[in-house]
Amino acid sequence: MRFNTKAVHEGLPLDPETGAVTFPIFQTSTFQQETPGVPRKHMGRDLSYARTENPTRTALETALATVEDAKYALAFASGLAAVTCVLNTLKTGSHVIACSDLYGGSYRAFTKVYAKLGLEFTFVNTTRLEEIEAAIRPNTVLLWLESPSNPLLNITDLRAASEIAKRKGIRVLVDNTFATPYLQKPLELGADIVLHSTTKYLNGHADAINGALVTNSEEIWQELKFVQNACGLIPGPQDCYLVLRGIKTLPLRMERHCSNAKKIAEYLSKHPKVAKVFYPGLPYHPGHEIAKKQMCDFGAMVSFELRDDSGTAYRPFLERLKLFTLAESLGCVQSLICHPPTMTHASVEPEARKKAGISEGLIRISVGIEDVEDLIEDLEQAFEGISS
Ligand code: PLP
Repeated sequence: MRFNTKAVHEGLPLDPETGAVTFPIFQTSTFQQETPGVPRKHMGRDLSYARTENPTRTALETALATVEDAKYALAFASGLAAVTCVLNTLKTGSHVIACSDLYGGSYRAFTKVYAKLGLEFTFVNTTRLEEIEAAIRPNTVLLWLESPSNPLLNITDLRAASEIAKRKGIRVLVDNTFATPYLQKPLELGADIVLHSTTKYLNGHADAINGALVTNSEEIWQELKFVQNACGLIPGPQDCYLVLRGIKTLPLRMERHCSNAKKIAEYLSKHPKVAKVFYPGLPYHPGHEIAKKQMCDFGAMVSFELRDDSGTAYRPFLERLKLFTLAESLGCVQSLICHPPTMTHASVEPEARKKAGISEGLIRISVGIEDVEDLIEDLEQAFEGISS
């Protein structure tokens, strides 16, 4: 079955009890048992308490596994709850290698929460495979990758990085939030775990916070499922329903997101007031050839720097925009724009931002599905209001 059909059908079971074509929201905290200790069964799962199992969550997990072509998926209260789940499976003293250019909230969880609890982290430029090799220690258990990365759209060769990790028995996790399963399937490239902030493209409408982990390994799934329940990292059924609804239109939205982003990246790259554009679809992007190999399109996140000596023009530029909403987050139908150093990556220390290449004037766009001509006109009128 092909992706569009899967997104609409296979991942979205009818409710077996009622035949409802839209999967119901099971807004309940617990389930009646007819005799003590023998829970009812629904879609093959035991229904005892809704932290452990909830049918709306099961339906979402089925859909997530389906679109990633994976055996198992788990849904979480947020992308960061999914991050928490993975880190909670590790033993004190374990070492994690992560890309230096990654989502600021993941970096904050690593350095401010889990380092204190005895996990060790090394941040490297994972686009340079030799940096991954050099960082491996006897206690390294996990390689944490983001490709395309947030906010610089760096591309790591997922297959080659996974091969390096595999040779040393190190598990590989790929945060696939920017690419989505429509554009990239990290499990097929050698990853063990895929992480999503499903708050973003999978939901697509900026109306739910949600996360996911996906794997083909029963052993990993059991470990993660145990922590999901033991630590109560689960999403509510209403949010599961919203993400389920979003998945049905993921392919359609992604096609429009990507084609709009390509045009905006080209427009920005020719603009006299723009110094640098970060977008893997541009032929001069250092990860362009690898992105072509491992993704089926280049995504809809575009970052850029203004050609501006004062380093402050980003502020009036952002304030002048009318169609682009100045807001954190990404992956929804409307275009969003943000200034990572003061917004999404404010929790990353200035030194670490500098080391990762995140300049103080960086602007990040999440290109929506509007008419691209309107988006370009809005950018143009904002450029007109700033001096170069
Ligand atoms: N991973 C990436 C790449 C993200 O961009 C985000 C949020 O922006 C997260 C994880 C965390 O997800 P959430 O905000 O759903 O907790």
